[in-house]
Amino acid sequence: MKIAVLKERSSGETRVAVTPETVKKFTALGAVVAVESGAGLTASISDADYAAMGAILGDAATTVAGADIVLAVQGPEPDLLAGVKQGAMLAAGLDPFGQRARIDAYATGVIEALAMEFMPRITRAQSMDILSSQSNLAGYKAVIDAAATYGRAFPMMMTAAGTISAAKAFVMGVGVAGLQAIATARRLGAQVSATDVRSATKEQILSLGAKPIFVEKVAGIEGEGAGGYATEMSPEYQAAQAELVSAHIAKQDIVITTALIPGRAAPRLITDAQIATMKPGSVIFDLAVAQGGNVEGSVQDQIVERHGVKIMGYSNTPAHLAADASALFARNLYNFLSAFWDKEQGRPVLDEEIGNAIRLTKDGAVVHPRLLG
Ligand code: NAD
Repeated sequence: MKIAVLKERSSGETRVAVTPETVKKFTALGAVVAVESGAGLTASISDADYAAMGAILGDAATTVAGADIVLAVQGPEPDLLAGVKQGAMLAAGLDPFGQRARIDAYATGVIEALAMEFMPRITRAQSMDILSSQSNLAGYKAVIDAAATYGRAFPMMMTAAGTISAAKAFVMGVGVAGLQAIATARRLGAQVSATDVRSATKEQILSLGAKPIFVEKVAGIEGEGAGGYATEMSPEYQAAQAELVSAHIAKQDIVITTALIPGRAAPRLITDAQIATMKPGSVIFDLAVAQGGNVEGSVQDQIVERHGVKIMGYSNTPAHLAADASALFARNLYNFLSAFWDKEQGRPVLDEEIGNAIRLTKDGAVVHPRLLG
């Protein structure tokens, strides 16, 4: 059983899909792990670190030659996988809707492509969930970078020269990233408020010591919604939310937006007119910028200034914390494969619930219902 890991080639990608820790664990399962030379460098992992745990280092072609499983952060170009075994598994964040041509090419190449972002949000799959592990870090990093860009301090400080008041931070969208953003802003000493369309998040906001700011006139999403995810809201709800945001945002120094709707563009939560009411020097970090943006005027990987307010957001926030993001991503992949490892066959055998949820291609065809529609 050969597991291959290539250097990531997507622009701005700094993460790597295995770490020395997971190389050691895969080796203990009886697998041979081949890693392309230099694959870990951007995540502060040297070839020697991998070799010390038993990995075989080589160029891209020798790394994938005869591989049974390829692990990656983002889907590799199909040409790179020419040497793998017929029917080899590829487990990665495959961006199934954005990279459809690539998925078709995996099918043609008889690769079994497994989209880790389709992992069901069920208790037993929590440790395999790349969206959670990466969003958590992204929520933290958004606050840290917003704080670095902000020209003032976060905590209240009483000094001999006078008092500095605490920054006011507002988190919009309280999923995994939003919860970590609240916790991080609180730790830095900000006064934090937060909002979501799912009423279940109110209690979570309160438990982190932040203030919930919710639309009360129109009902939001009760319970956990569809798999815990939000849907697009009615025009009435959107109008009530716009009114609420307008009243609240003018008093905020830092705004972190994280709102996503699966399979759709991110909802627009902040307009240019609302930004114009904010104090000069305020900072907005748009974590949804790569999905179309929650904030009017946000541009990926740039700091845009509008009405004296800085709007920032990265196309790939976890890549700005490469070492930790790689460590957690690699553990998600290990937890996934090891949970299904069949000792007798010496390979993973997926069950129906998880296999059918994440398998995009098999035996030369695209098989996932969301791609066949
Ligand atoms: P997400 O990244 O899809 O969205 C971020 C947040 O934005 C969500 O809380 C969403 O409700 C909110 N949002 C969407 N539209 C909005 C709008 N117009 N205004 C304000 N907020 C808006 O969410 P996520 O972090 O992936 O979490 C989604 C759900 O999945 C949560 O309920 C979370 O607890 C759950 N979850 C479960 C597991 C598991 O059980 N394995 C793992 C991770 C997350």
